[in-house]
Amino acid sequence: MTKILIVEDEVGLVTLLKYNLEKQGYETLVCMDGKNVLTTALTEKPDLILLDWMLPSIQGIDLCREMRKTYELRTIPIIMLTARGEESDKVKGLSYGADDYIVKPFSVPELMARIMALLRRTTPTPVVHNLSYGDIEIDFSKRRVLRADRPIHLGPTEFRLLQFLMEKPGVVLSREYLLKAVWGGSIHVELRTVDVHIRRLRLALNENGDKDIIRTVRSVGYSLDYHLQEEE
Ligand code: CA
Repeated sequence: MTKILIVEDEVGLVTLLKYNLEKQGYETLVCMDGKNVLTTALTEKPDLILLDWMLPSIQGIDLCREMRKTYELRTIPIIMLTARGEESDKVKGLSYGADDYIVKPFSVPELMARIMALLRRTTPTPVVHNLSYGDIEIDFSKRRVLRADRPIHLGPTEFRLLQFLMEKPGVVLSREYLLKAVWGGSIHVELRTVDVHIRRLRLALNENGDKDIIRTVRSVGYSLDYHLQEEE
């Protein structure tokens, strides 16, 4: 869910923004004072910030500049809200790192359109941190698994299982560990379920007659081992 931090000290405007943003399906957070903004942004990692220029304690523009200097916050898109409409303020706002600027009073549809446009242009393509091991590759951006460049079709559970195994190749992961990692430790899932899904994962990975690389360590768990001898 896209999270928007509203930084605004006018109660009426906060209510209006909160109501309309939530109606559009955004999750909202509110800071009515400048002094809480940086910590809130750091802990909540909003996807976009609506930042009022005139705030108690700290000016919006200073917050904007501060966020752009903070590594964890510098990529969060910021729209400045301001009562001033002078061109020089606009330039100042943008040069301090705001991504867009809207003058009060603004229409809600216009702000919504600006928010959508900004989110569209600033949402990074997902970080490609593909995992690979042997001839198996997980492409997270496409949610795709390849073995020797051929696509392997996995259900979501097998996909997650493979992901955890690939993160620690060669390490024996207990069934309890996998159960917790993949199913979130649901009390309704038995350890045997892990075996069932491992079996499916194995079938899918080996469907082209490729060698088995999932090692079963009896009564303990499983590991990914490319150098597995055909002993089982
Ligand atoms: Ca204000």
